[in-house]
Amino acid sequence: VWKNCLVFIKDNIQPQAFKTWFEPIKPIKLSENALSIQVPSKFFYEWLEEHYVKLLKVALTKELGESAKLVYIIRMENTYGNKEPFTEKIPSSNRGAMAAQEMDVPIKSKNPELRNPFVIPGIRNIKIESQLNPNYNFDNFLEGDSNRLARSAGMAVANKPGGTSFNPLLVFGGVGLGKTHLAHAIGVEIKDKYPERTVLYISAEKFTQQYIESVKKNTRNDFIHFYQLIDVLIIDDVQFLSGKSGTQDVFFHIFNHLHQNGKQVILTSDKAPVDMQDIEQRLLSRFKWGLSAELQSPDYETRISILKNKLYRDGVEIPEDIIEYVAKHIKTNIRELEGAIISLIAQSTLNKREVTIELAQQVVEKFVKNTKREVSIDYIQKVVSDYFEMDVATLQSKTRKRHIVQARQLAMFFAKKFTKASLASIGSQIGKRDHATVLHACKTVDNLAETDKQFRKYIDDLTNKFS
Ligand code: ADP
Ligand code: MG
Repeated sequence: VWKNCLVFIKDNIQPQAFKTWFEPIKPIKLSENALSIQVPSKFFYEWLEEHYVKLLKVALTKELGESAKLVYIIRMENTYGNKEPFTEKIPSSNRGAMAAQEMDVPIKSKNPELRNPFVIPGIRNIKIESQLNPNYNFDNFLEGDSNRLARSAGMAVANKPGGTSFNPLLVFGGVGLGKTHLAHAIGVEIKDKYPERTVLYISAEKFTQQYIESVKKNTRNDFIHFYQLIDVLIIDDVQFLSGKSGTQDVFFHIFNHLHQNGKQVILTSDKAPVDMQDIEQRLLSRFKWGLSAELQSPDYETRISILKNKLYRDGVEIPEDIIEYVAKHIKTNIRELEGAIISLIAQSTLNKREVTIELAQQVVEKFVKNTKREVSIDYIQKVVSDYFEMDVATLQSKTRKRHIVQARQLAMFFAKKFTKASLASIGSQIGKRDHATVLHACKTVDNLAETDKQFRKYIDDLTNKFS
């Protein structure tokens, strides 16, 4: 009977789905109009009920007539040394003719809530979807000295998942250096090359939540079983497991199973294994079996190319010196680097302002704390004089020559901007002027900045020198 059902089912669904969901089923017994089938887990049963109940119904009705019933027997592996499998019988749901009256009391579970979707949150989606973000791929993961090893190890793993000595591949590095991006890129590439493999990306945090949930719902074995079915398991931020011994324990079992079966494991962490704390020794030693590759802070060149690439992909153009400014000031975090450039673009479009060094400076300041170095008024006068190729005495003199006046005004403007000195104090230090002169200078600079392109460039160049 079951064989005939299978033939029918096979004709009506995707081969992959058939392989996954129907081949593992074992027919157990047929009594009158009730067929008992054994499924590997409760999760499996839920899945069949959710997705294939209609198909099963049609197939079974064809064989056994309108009064056909289906009884699921769930086989559970006891992963804790006890070889004795225990079974739990669940009648098919009360849908139409499939209604099953019998309620065999399961052996272990005292009071099973039969229709209670036991499912660990999110697991259904995961089963179909890898949870991979296609926007994080190798194409847009730019290479540089800082990531070359990790990137190429990732490529190697993607070419031959489970087939390299990089198992597990552990990618570690500080915040915002591309761990998550690289982890996805590997998964995306594997999915591309080997579409039939089950790839799963999950954060260690979510993994932990699922695990805790499964303990609460008494479905710990299903949880383990589910993870053991995966071909490529990617767990992000494993440092999150520190101190969580239950989750570490379950992960240890899953890891061993996958590793023994030649499945690929990819992990990321904010620390090297040697520096990880509150992670069980046996787990740490597993982490070291494969390759640990570090993502370091990107060098200047790489920062520039990441910024340019981002702008290019967004179809935005901004001046070279602004890009350089941002790359020069945001050094250790690619997320911040991107954040700054996005915010710069946003501000310039929203406020209809041209992207200037000044704007860049304001934006960068928000991302990097303590960029503002206190500069002295003397230093400002020196820098401005040098820039205009005059000496400080000339800058301070009483002359009304236009370019000297402008230099003087700029010095006042920057003194106001970069120091905490009062207008009066600035005035007295820059050629013994009063506070009204300084105020006037600042206003003039502001006005010229808006109207005079050349002058704008002076401001930008000088701003660059002070930050
Ligand atoms: P982490 O997980 O290490 O904190 P992410 O993977 O989230 O860092 O990366 C932060 C941001 O930087 C992401 O937007 C990512 O796309 C980008 N990024 C990181 N490394 C690169 C790289 N080599 N090339 C391009 N973008 C990168
Ligand atoms: Mg991350």
